[in-house]
Amino acid sequence: KVIMQIENLSKTYMQGKIPVHALRCACITVRKGELLAIMGPSGSGKSTLLALIGTLEKATDGKIILDGTDLTSVPEKLLPGVRREKIGFIFQHYNLIPTLSALENVELAMRFSRMQKKERKERAKSLLEDLGLEDRLNHKPTELSGGEQQRVSIARALANKPALILADEPTGEVDSKTRDSVVQIFKELSQKGQTILVVTHDPEVAKECSRVLRITDGMIKDH
Ligand code: ADP
Ligand code: ADP
Repeated sequence: KVIMQIENLSKTYMQGKIPVHALRCACITVRKGELLAIMGPSGSGKSTLLALIGTLEKATDGKIILDGTDLTSVPEKLLPGVRREKIGFIFQHYNLIPTLSALENVELAMRFSRMQKKERKERAKSLLEDLGLEDRLNHKPTELSGGEQQRVSIARALANKPALILADEPTGEVDSKTRDSVVQIFKELSQKGQTILVVTHDPEVAKECSRVLRITDGMIKDH
C-alpha cells in the first residue's frame, strides 16, 4: 500500500536575486511500513525535502500526497492540525521541553487530540514503557542520557499515530551503541507498519533501512 506519493516536487529559494534550486522535480513513492533513508552531501537539499514534507515550507511546484491528503493544497489555517495528525518529528537535538518530565513531554503532543486527559496519560506511559523508559517517566530531559532523550522523542513522535515519521539526523549526537538501539527501534516500528523517513549521514544507519535514496544538487532518484 502506497502511503506517500511525491510528484514533481520542486523548491527554489531566492538568495538575493539568485535562484537556488534546492529541490528539482522530485518523484518518490513510499509504501506503508518502509524505513526509508535519505542520504546526500551538505547543501544537497535534504533539509528542504524534510521541510516540504513536514509542511514547514511551501513547495514552489509539485504535490505531496500523504495518507490521502495533498499536503501542498491544505489551507494555511488547517496546516498545524494536519501536521499534528499525520506527521511525527524526530530531531537530532531531541527538542524536548526542558521543564517537563518525559511523561509530560509525550502527553503534551496529544493536547489537541480527542482523547481525555487520563487516556492521554495512559498512552504516554505505555509508549514510554514500550521503549524501556518505565523507570524514567518523571525524569526531566537533563536527567536523561542522550539515548534516553531520543527514546522520549520517539515516543512523542508516535503519540498521535502519525502516517509518517520524519527523522532528521536522529543519531547525529549519540554514540554507536545508542545509535544501534535507535536503529533497532526504527526497524521494529517499521515491521509493525510505521512508515519512517530518516535523513542520515551515517552509512551504518542507512544499511539497516529498507531503501536508500540519494540526493545530489537537489536531484533525487527513486527507482
Ligand atoms: P544541515 O546540512 O546540517 O542540515 P542546514 O540544512 O541548516 O544544515 O543548512 C544547509 C545549507 O543550507 C547550508 O549551506 C546553509 O548555509 C544553507 N542555508 C540554510 N538556511 C539558509 C538560509 N536561510 N539562507 C541561505 N542559506 C541557508
Ligand atoms: P542539506 O539539508 O542537504 O544540507 P538544504 O536543503 O539545507 O541542504 O539546502 C539546499 C540548498 O538550498 C542549499 O544550496 C542552501 O544554501 C539552499 N537553502 C536552504 N534553505 C534556504 C533558505 N531558507 N533560503 C535560501 N537558500 C536556502
